[in-house]
Amino acid sequence: MIDLVTDSGPRSSPWQNAKVVGIKEETARAKSFQLALPEPAPHLAGQHYVVRLTAPDGYTASRSYSIASAPGDPRELEITVERLEGGEVSTFLHDEVAVGDELDVRGPIGGWFVWEGDVPALLVGGGSGVVPLMAMLRYARLNGKVDLVRLVVSVRTPEDLYYAEEIAGPESALVYTRVTPAAFPRPPARLTPEDIPQPIAAGTRAYVCGSSGFADAASHMLVDLGVPAPQVRVERFGPSG
Ligand SMILES: Cc1cc2nc3c(=O)[nH]c(=O)nc-3n(C[C@H](O)[C@H](O)[C@H](O)COP(=O)(O)OP(=O)(O)OC[C@H]3O[C@@H](n4cnc5c(N)ncnc54)[C@H](O)[C@@H]3O)c2cc1C
Repeated sequence: MIDLVTDSGPRSSPWQNAKVVGIKEETARAKSFQLALPEPAPHLAGQHYVVRLTAPDGYTASRSYSIASAPGDPRELEITVERLEGGEVSTFLHDEVAVGDELDVRGPIGGWFVWEGDVPALLVGGGSGVVPLMAMLRYARLNGKVDLVRLVVSVRTPEDLYYAEEIAGPESALVYTRVTPAAFPRPPARLTPEDIPQPIAAGTRAYVCGSSGFADAASHMLVDLGVPAPQVRVERFGPSG
């Protein structure tokens, strides 16, 4: 068991002590954490932070977590963490961290899997892979750019959907692979090419995020549908991120 110890380091260090100011249960296995940073830094939609836990004996464990909140949103930075049974960091964040605690974080990080609202974006996420795509959707909604964004999210059941009260809208579509809500028109099944909004506008950049298996399947599907391979940006939430 890791006890929560934070070390902020010198002021010039990129590590910061973020204060947990809110925790929200997204699903039975996912929580969003609102973090107040002593020195907030602007971020781009799609970037992530590294969270570092330090045990009393000095052992550390660091994992990446995508930013869910939109660039420019004056509220606190938000990350959303899926609890993986046996996982070192995600179980600690879920089971031990409470409002008022501090976490060592470093970021924002990443310059490839980012959307700046400059090109049409086709966002395809599986499970927790929706997190950085939610930052993009929120950014588009905040800045009147929803016409540029199409989001498809694949989850197993309605209970597995993050941001459930917020995600629905004309720019987003949901795919359930095991169980659907009552009267949902599409039977439960894995993502198919028919689930991808078409036609895909010229100049579209695709952002695919999820497990390795989901990311591979979805990115191949998009290339088969005509998105040039260099325009498909992929982020995998694999082991030991
Ligand atoms: C750029 C980036 C952004 C990420 N953003 C998010 C995010 O927004 N939300 C989020 O919940 N996670 C995210 N991840 C994944 C995250 O970094 C961790 O890998 C995850 O939380 C598991 O860490 P852990 O310490 O709990 O598990 P570990 O102790 O690392 O692993 C425990 C067990 O789970 C397996 N495992 C590890 N990671 C995964 C996984 N993602 N899926 C399935 N099995 C796994 C391991 O093989 C091992 O068997 C991101 C990863 C990257 C690289």
